[in-house]
Amino acid sequence: MGALQREDIERKDRIVSRNPATGEVLGDVPDQSAAEVKQAVARAREAQRSWGALPVKERCTRVGRFRDQVVRRAPELCELIAREGGKTRAEALSMEVMLIADLATYFIKRAPKILAPETIPLHLLKNRGSYVHYVPRGVVGIIAPWNFPFSIPVGEAVMALLAGNGVVVKPSDVTPLIALKAKELYDAAGLPPDLFQVVTGRGPAGAALIDAGIDYCIFTGSTTTGKKVAAACGERLIPCTLELGGKAPAIVCADADVDRTARALVWGAFANQGQVCVSVERVYAHQAVHDELVEKIVALTGKLRQGDPSQAETLDTGAMTWDRQVEIVEERIKSALDAGARLRAGGQRRGQGLQFQPTVISECRQDMDVMRKEIFGPVMPIMKVRDEEEAVALANDSQLGLAAYVFTDDKQKGRRLAERIEAGTVMVNDVLITYGAPETPWGGVKQSGIGRTHSDSGLKDLCQTRHVNYDRLALKRELWWYPYSDKLYQQTLKLMKWIFR
Ligand code: NAD
Repeated sequence: MGALQREDIERKDRIVSRNPATGEVLGDVPDQSAAEVKQAVARAREAQRSWGALPVKERCTRVGRFRDQVVRRAPELCELIAREGGKTRAEALSMEVMLIADLATYFIKRAPKILAPETIPLHLLKNRGSYVHYVPRGVVGIIAPWNFPFSIPVGEAVMALLAGNGVVVKPSDVTPLIALKAKELYDAAGLPPDLFQVVTGRGPAGAALIDAGIDYCIFTGSTTTGKKVAAACGERLIPCTLELGGKAPAIVCADADVDRTARALVWGAFANQGQVCVSVERVYAHQAVHDELVEKIVALTGKLRQGDPSQAETLDTGAMTWDRQVEIVEERIKSALDAGARLRAGGQRRGQGLQFQPTVISECRQDMDVMRKEIFGPVMPIMKVRDEEEAVALANDSQLGLAAYVFTDDKQKGRRLAERIEAGTVMVNDVLITYGAPETPWGGVKQSGIGRTHSDSGLKDLCQTRHVNYDRLALKRELWWYPYSDKLYQQTLKLMKWIFR
C-alpha cells in the first residue's frame, strides 16, 4: 500500500454529507476529537453558570427568541431537512419544524409552573415543613440519530435550556448539517453562544461526550448503541434517558373501521420512509377483516407519489436517509419472502439515490425476522390472527416496547386492550403522533429504553430534585433525640398503636 494521500487524511478527519435522493454532496464537517468535545463541554459549563441563575421566566423569554427564528426561517429549515434527510417537505415541516415551534411554545408557557418549588405536606412530622425545588443539572449531553435530525436534538435541547442547563449536541454523522443550522438559528436569536453547542463526529465523538464531564445524557438511537451508552454512563454515575429502538405492533380488531385503519397504517408504516422508531412494523389483523384490509392497504400504497424531495413537485414519500439502512430493509424483505411471506406491493429500490418503494408483505409469521427485528424502513408486514387474544399475545412477544396501536370501533375495548400491551405509548385508532404532543410522556419499556422525555416529568428530570425540610414549630428538643429512656419507649409504643390502629 502506498503512503496515505493528503485527500485521504482530510477525508478521515471530515464527514461528508450527501443528499440521499441524489447522492449530491451537500457539504462536510469535521470529525471532532475527544479534546475538542471536552473543550465544548467546559465552555458550556462556564456559560451555564449565569444562565442557570436566571429565573425560569427569563429563560423562557430568551428561548422564545430561538423559537421565533425557527418559525421565521421555516422554509429554509425544511429545504435543508428534505435535502439532507430525504424526507418530503411536508414531513420536514410537520414532523420537525412545526413540532419544535409547538414544543417550545408549550414548555415556554408551562416551564415556570412545572419547575416551581412544590410543597410536600408531611403526614406524620407535623412540626416540620418540606418542599422540593428544581436545580439545573449543569451540562446536558444530547446524542442524536439521523431519522429526525432537527426535532429530536432540538426538542431535547429546548427542554434542557429551559431547565437551566448548558447543552452540547452530538448529531448523527449521517445528518450533521441540520444540527449546525439549528446552532446558526440559536446564535441568530442572540442567546449565549457557548451555552448551546454542536460537536460533529462519528460514534467515538458520542462516547467522548459522555466522558467529557457532562451531568446528564439524553441518548436517542439504536438499542445496541444504547446499551454501550448506559454502560458508559453507569461507570461515571451520570443519569441518562435512553430512547431506543421500536417494533410497534398494530392490532386490528374485527370491528375496526377498515377504511380508516388502512389509511392510518399506510401513513404509520411509510411516513418518513418508515424510519420512525414508532413506525407500524407489524400488523396483526383479525381474520374477519384481514383480506379486505390487505386489499385496501395495497391499493393506497400504490397511489403514493415518490421522488426526490428537493424538487418542487408535491410528494408523499421521498428517500431513505442512510445506505446501510436500505441494505437492512432489503435483507428483511428477502428473508421474509424466502420463508414464505407474500410480496403485495413495492419491494425494490427506485431511481438513483436511496429511494425505496413502500412495501407491503402479507402472510407473515411471528418467527420471521421481519416480525421480530426492527426494520426501520418502508415495509409493512401483515399477519392474520384468530382473535384479539392471539394478537395481544403476539404484540407482547417482543424484546421491544416503544409504541403500539389498536384499531377498533369499541372505545372501551380499545382502552382495555391498550392497557394490556407492553409499550410506553399505546394509541387507539391512530398512529405515530404523540411525539408531537409535548405534554405526554415519551419513552419505552423493555429494551426500547429507560426514562421519559417530554411531559412535565421529562422537564423535571433535566433538573436535580432537591428537598428542603424546615421547622414549623420551634421546640427545645425533639422527642426522638438523645437521651433515650424506657419511659419514652413505652410512650412511643402506645403512640404507635394509637396512630396505626
Ligand atoms: P445509532 O445508535 O447508530 O446512533 C445514534 C447516535 O449515537 C449517533 O449520533 C452515533 O454517532 C452515536 N454513537 C454511536 N456509537 C456511540 C457510542 N459508543 N457512544 C456514544 N454515542 C455513540 O442509531 P441511528 O442509526 O442513528 O438511529 C436509528 C435508531 O434510533 C433506531 O433503532 C431507532 O428506533 C432509534 N430511535 C429511537 C427513538 C426514540 O424516541 N425511542 C427516536 C428515533 C430513533
